[in-house]
Amino acid sequence: MKTFELTRANENAQAVSVAAKATTAQQGADIRFIAGGTTLIDLMKLNVETPQKLIDINHLPIAKIENLPGGGLTIGAMVRNSDLAYHPIVRRNYAVLSEALLSGASAQLRNMATTGGNLLQRTRCMYFRDTATPCNKREPGSGCAAITGVNRSLAILGTSEHCIATNPSDMNVALAALEATIHIRGTKGDRTVTIGDFHLLPGNTPHRETVLEPGDLITHVTLPPPALGSRSLYLKLRDRASYEFALASAAVVITVAAGKITRARIALGGVGTKPWRSTEAENELTNQPATQAVFQKAANAALRNAKPQSQNGFKVELANRCLVHALKLATQNA
Ligand SMILES: Cc1cc2nc3c(=O)[nH]c(=O)nc-3n(C[C@H](O)[C@H](O)[C@H](O)COP(=O)(O)OP(=O)(O)OC[C@H]3O[C@@H](n4cnc5c(N)ncnc54)[C@H](O)[C@@H]3O)c2cc1C
Ligand code: SF4
Repeated sequence: MKTFELTRANENAQAVSVAAKATTAQQGADIRFIAGGTTLIDLMKLNVETPQKLIDINHLPIAKIENLPGGGLTIGAMVRNSDLAYHPIVRRNYAVLSEALLSGASAQLRNMATTGGNLLQRTRCMYFRDTATPCNKREPGSGCAAITGVNRSLAILGTSEHCIATNPSDMNVALAALEATIHIRGTKGDRTVTIGDFHLLPGNTPHRETVLEPGDLITHVTLPPPALGSRSLYLKLRDRASYEFALASAAVVITVAAGKITRARIALGGVGTKPWRSTEAENELTNQPATQAVFQKAANAALRNAKPQSQNGFKVELANRCLVHALKLATQNA
């Protein structure tokens, strides 16, 4: 691990002004915020991330969960994953988020990991983490070892010829189904970005993962009030029951009235290069009866544009079954 300088930020403006001196907010940034450190320190030990300066944001006043006046919730960027998952309002009104968080990592990691850090966690593609191999995300223009290599765990939706890495976060998938908004403080003031617009598709620039610019500090995330009568659920399928990333997952937020689906928000994990909201599935579900046949049509629509690689063709069927089963569980006895 290379040497670096550590600065402790005591206020948001100070953190932003130090980070604004970075050349980029993306891969290769020479100045980085450090929150829980569970992604960043790992990657620094592997020499994948080599910042010269770390800004410790653990003392910033952005660690509260609060009700919003018209309903809804605000979640500070420094709220730990475990505190968020066990918060009574989250468990009651946003079960999909609690379940997604608790399906991730381990209890110890969740005690450290933060909301802001989870939004920005990096892919688990093995080549990204191995500096001896080509990787366009780590080193733009060097090639993609995964496309012709080990790609069993990688993406089938949103890929490009330059990168097929999955966004590994469970939390992000739940936030996509909940239509969360990300609040950012930057050098030009405060702005908001919807979760759908926050992460970028790899395209020709897989090293650009989000819309963040140098200096941008995520201050908090807001959730709209829960839709009246809605139920939500997160289902994660993986190689072992705990401490493992998703091969496929589904976040479902759904309202059923008199046997008919009146509203559905669907997102998939483990299969997309970004948290994968499926409006195609939502359209197939809305105003339809809550039946197995309708769930199947929705899942088919969600996976219609899937582009499997040499080893991950099984994910098309797995994600399809995952969504159908999640819909069945979420609408039971509705
Ligand atoms: C062994 C292991 C297993 C895991 N399993 C899972 C799993 O199953 N599911 C899952 O979803 N996750 C899993 N994770 C990932 C874990 O959830 C993330 O590492 C964690 O959420 C990152 O949060 P952090 O606060 O530690 O981020 P950090 O490592 O501190 O930061 C990550 C990135 O975010 C930036 N950053 C942090 N906060 C801000 C902010 N407020 N504004 C702007 N930039 C910021 C940092 O500069 C850095 O680039 C696992 C991790 C490990 C190590
Ligand atoms: S899939 Fe993306 S992260 Fe993995 S090797 Fe290819 S470019 Fe790198």
